[in-house]
Amino acid sequence: HTTEKMIGDRLRKYESLFKLTPEHMRRLVKAFTEALDLGLAKPKQVVPMEPTFVFGWPSRQEQGDFLTLDLGGTNLRVCLVTLQGEGKFEITQSKYQLKEEQKQEDGQKLFDFCAECLKKFVDAHLTDENGGLRLKPGENLPFGFTFSYPCSQERIDHGELIRWTKGFQNPHTEGQDVAAMFRKSLERFNLPIELTALVNDTTGTLIASHYANPKSKIAVVLGTGCNAAYMEHVKNIPKIKHLGIDDNTQMASNCEWGAFDSFEHEHLPRTKYDVIVDETSSKPGEQAFEKLISGLYLGEILRLILCELIDEDVLFLGQDTSQLEIPYALDTALLSLMENDQTDALLTVIGIFAHFFALETAIEERQFFRALAHLIVVRAARLGACGIAAIVSRMDYLEEGCLVGVEGSLYNKYPGFVETVHEGLQDIFGEQGRRVLIPLNIITHHAEDGSGLGSAIIAAMTRIRL
Ligand code: ADP
Repeated sequence: HTTEKMIGDRLRKYESLFKLTPEHMRRLVKAFTEALDLGLAKPKQVVPMEPTFVFGWPSRQEQGDFLTLDLGGTNLRVCLVTLQGEGKFEITQSKYQLKEEQKQEDGQKLFDFCAECLKKFVDAHLTDENGGLRLKPGENLPFGFTFSYPCSQERIDHGELIRWTKGFQNPHTEGQDVAAMFRKSLERFNLPIELTALVNDTTGTLIASHYANPKSKIAVVLGTGCNAAYMEHVKNIPKIKHLGIDDNTQMASNCEWGAFDSFEHEHLPRTKYDVIVDETSSKPGEQAFEKLISGLYLGEILRLILCELIDEDVLFLGQDTSQLEIPYALDTALLSLMENDQTDALLTVIGIFAHFFALETAIEERQFFRALAHLIVVRAARLGACGIAAIVSRMDYLEEGCLVGVEGSLYNKYPGFVETVHEGLQDIFGEQGRRVLIPLNIITHHAEDGSGLGSAIIAAMTRIRL
């Protein structure tokens, strides 16, 4: 009974720590909107609002074969996309695993590995029965490189890496043109491929969602990291005025919103666990918003709470907890499995702790862990809703309504995540804190294959412009 009471007390404490009230959410939306405005007005702001040089929406008539490679954070995906016009397409894709060491080695080596994966893919999918390439002599396949780290671009086929995020630290890459580096790797493998577009995954998802449904106007990625993109009027991007782009055009804006509230930490509700995640990360101070929201960090937040309770002799007394004390040992995918457990005895939770950490658990503890996972992920989803609401407010989309295309395993696979984002939007836009009764005009949906498809469409749009 004492354990039960102790756990009950603790849970109440964590509930209040991770709770995000509608009032607090509205304050965050206001601060967020101001940060977006500032990023559009001046270069090098906390939320940098990177111009993408993707001009306007696709016509949905784009056609042809395109290769894409997505370097997202956890996996590496290569796709062959055949655009058939009328919004139709076919995708063949392969996934390649990225090892932890590859995120630390020299940047050129990382791109060499990407080119090697492309070569494997081309050999497997683009050769005829005689082993020859299914391309005419001298023909190059247009290639869209989906590179989901903050880059500053001057053209669609160029981009300087501002800084690595999501645990990547490859030397000799920050400040370099990653498109040029990638071309070097393509040459090394003698591939008949021409890098036509360097695309952020959110921009890709934005264009792909609109291609599938023109009501889609905002894109969000909630996977290893977290970011968003939307279509902005060029006349509302003062910082690129000097480029002399026609004021009547539109350009996709890659918000890089993972950086919201970095350095100053004025707005976000950071707990002491969030502070530890930040301080022990490879980039302390940076990506403050992302660190509260994305797949890379949520499991770690739960693990840090559990470690504190181990130190306080509340959990796992007399057991060897060394496995659980390894940083990042608790993947966010496991929180998903815990919340999905429908059994009374929480058999999946028993299995997770026994299998991954060699720990025995009592039923009250398992319920407690699951409740903690829920609190951490609900806060993440509600913060995500604040970001979406900021773009909706900025673009005045509430009245006419819009769809928000979302990519990423956290959004797509975590039980209840989608509903929690929608509840969050209701809390923000509802009347005086009451959730609106009419169906909400802003609806998020899973944008399947978003970044790969989007990158191909952008490569096609670029070709047409040339
Ligand atoms: P990426 O962002 O690298 O392109 P994903 O969208 O698959 O790839 O996101 C990977 C992240 O999602 C990892 O941080 C992982 O912990 C998390 N993740 C994977 N599966 C799940 C799941 N079932 N539920 C919640 N999070 C998951």
